[in-house]
Amino acid sequence: MTAKLTLAAGMSRLGTETAFDVLARAKALEQAGRSIINLGIGQPDFQTPANIVEAAVKALRDGHHGYTPANGILPLREAVAADILKYRGVEVNPDHVLIVPGGKVTMFFAILMFGEPGAEILYPNPGFPIYESVIRFSGAKPVPIPLYEETGYSFSADEVLSKITPASRLIILNSPANPTGGVVPKSELDKLVAGLEKHPQVAIMSDEIYSRMLYDGQKHASMMAYPSIRDRLILLDGWSKTYAMTGWRMGYSVWPASLIGQATRLAINCHSCVNAAAQFAGIEALTGPQDQPEAMVRAFDERRRVIVEETNRIPGFRCIMPGGAFYTFPNIEGTGITSRELQEKLLTEAGVALISGTSFGAFGEGYLRFSYANSIENIREAIRRIRDCLAK
Ligand code: PLP
Repeated sequence: MTAKLTLAAGMSRLGTETAFDVLARAKALEQAGRSIINLGIGQPDFQTPANIVEAAVKALRDGHHGYTPANGILPLREAVAADILKYRGVEVNPDHVLIVPGGKVTMFFAILMFGEPGAEILYPNPGFPIYESVIRFSGAKPVPIPLYEETGYSFSADEVLSKITPASRLIILNSPANPTGGVVPKSELDKLVAGLEKHPQVAIMSDEIYSRMLYDGQKHASMMAYPSIRDRLILLDGWSKTYAMTGWRMGYSVWPASLIGQATRLAINCHSCVNAAAQFAGIEALTGPQDQPEAMVRAFDERRRVIVEETNRIPGFRCIMPGGAFYTFPNIEGTGITSRELQEKLLTEAGVALISGTSFGAFGEGYLRFSYANSIENIREAIRRIRDCLAK
């Protein structure tokens, strides 16, 4: 007999991250002999600094092969607390830090902790696609926070506050942002926090995974800096982007006292603990020299200027200068082609992999996401190919 399986209803509501599909298709086209320039996937095109790799190798040689505490080894959690003090100016108890296998795990745990039928969760749109996916999976109602090109892909605090209802349980924020590169101005965060003080039932998850990738001398405005919401704030950060460690699966979260036990319980049920050697690499990343991550950001800054200038020369494209991360989110309405069609056309006809804005939510129609984690030479060539393809 062939299997007749009944899956849980949530499975049919689970979305995905199109970047991985596009990456697979780009690789398949390359294997078939096509030249593809990948501006699709969101990962630094740099290697993890050697001192970090060595720390992991040493940990393995030193015999760190077993389970660690579920929340992570204490020296790593202490290093995270010291890093938060250094870059955010805020004291954190290392016992409120949870080491997780990648930034994504924090959002999965936070959304599962609050999401269920009848609950509402606010999230940025266009935004990282996993937010909406997991909110739907949980059964909660996803309530989009629209981000606007006109305001540098920031939100309006008044508009966000107007969407809060008695059913709202969690609000997700992300600045600097994927997919737009947008940075929410501190003045808007101040306004939002002042308004949230009237809604003590709403938890906040601040995804600050791009906090070290800011340009033009901007300082990161962290949600951790607001004492009035600290008892309901979950901070999401990690090593993937800052230290070019996407494949190591290393992230951390900071939870309020009332939630850290629940979050650790989810970790024990899910993954037990993070790879022990990777945790030692994490200590070296935070406490070792910062010149390589800083040089990476300078390289991204140079590419950012090139890609924005070049993109604005493509007929039908309009691209604002993003303030952070390593993405641009040009408006492509002037081409008269939908985002998804343009993604397909540029992959198959021009050999350029990038992502349709709609992969980041319905509010992404009319936009494409470019990741400029690629060489300046490749960026220029990609734009030349796009111009040629659209001129045909
Ligand atoms: N949050 C945002 C906004 C991201 O863009 C990403 C990765 O692209 C993540 C979280 C997940 O990071 P990680 O690879 O560490 O799971």
